[in-house]
Amino acid sequence: MSKKKKKKARRSHHHIIPSSRGGTDRYENISTVDVKAHQNYHTLFGNMTPEEIIDYLVNYFWKGNYNFIGGKHEKEKRGKGTGKQDY
Ligand SMILES: [Zn+2]
Repeated sequence: MSKKKKKKARRSHHHIIPSSRGGTDRYENISTVDVKAHQNYHTLFGNMTPEEIIDYLVNYFWKGNYNFIGGKHEKEKRGKGTGKQDY
């Protein structure tokens, strides 16, 4: 075997809705992800669903002041604002 063989990325199957929470093994509920990224996901979020993660981030870290529009977040316009994005 050649020493120049490219190392193949290790992948694993992630249940979008965890099987422990009623998620199925069907294609729609499985995403194939890098093993390290998969470990990081569960270290950070345990068995939370994507909706629960978004709800947690919005309500705990952003105090409900953000809306998700087209995959990006935009601060809700409340009262007077400068119109500038403050990231
Ligand atoms: Zn997983």
